[in-house]
Amino acid sequence: MPRILVIEDEADIREVLDYNLRTAGYEVIAAERGRDGLSLVREQHPDLVLLDLMLPDVSGTEICRAIKDDPSTRTLPVVVLSARREEIDRVVGFELGADDYVTKPFSVRELLLRIRAVLRRSESRPSEANLVDFGSLRIDRDAHRAWVEGDEVELTALEFKLLVTLYDRRNRVQSRGSLLDHVWGMDTKISTRTVDAHVKRLREKMGAARDYIETVRGVGYRFAEIPTLGSC
Ligand code: CA
Repeated sequence: MPRILVIEDEADIREVLDYNLRTAGYEVIAAERGRDGLSLVREQHPDLVLLDLMLPDVSGTEICRAIKDDPSTRTLPVVVLSARREEIDRVVGFELGADDYVTKPFSVRELLLRIRAVLRRSESRPSEANLVDFGSLRIDRDAHRAWVEGDEVELTALEFKLLVTLYDRRNRVQSRGSLLDHVWGMDTKISTRTVDAHVKRLREKMGAARDYIETVRGVGYRFAEIPTLGSC
């Protein structure tokens, strides 16, 4: 079931979209603010983003730019919703690379047709977003596999989740507590020392790519922003 992320600050429009998209068989996640929307793009891996341009915090054009500038989300289709014609021209043009647009007020039927067409186009492309190349490391999210310098790294499901969680939040420090929440789940009773043990094992397995996971003393871990030359 394709997952659609709706980024729209108007609650009534969000509700209409949520209802109609679910009825049409899509899974829907939604954000009211641009920043939350971008976090959901990185954490929930939607198949398509339905993006309102007029948002209270970050403008839709900035969100679109951020999605299309990031190699790991570049192929994620973005359909823009806006009442403002001139903005749509800018966003859908080559400048920002949105995939399609619907003007407000929109017809639900037309919107669904466009979403279906955009999804069909993107399915016929290889899912690059699911294949990550970072220095000597390659991650295939769909297959749950990872390679370093071309050699497959045998990871447990938990280690893979830990690696992807760190990678998706690269250049941001992750406390042990936040890793526990995201990788092990909220209800877990295990100690933060378990996180250290798993990171240690993950690093050992990653060999030449081990330094991509940096220790931030007293806080937690951080995945490097760019692959460092010395480690690959
Ligand atoms: Ca709006």
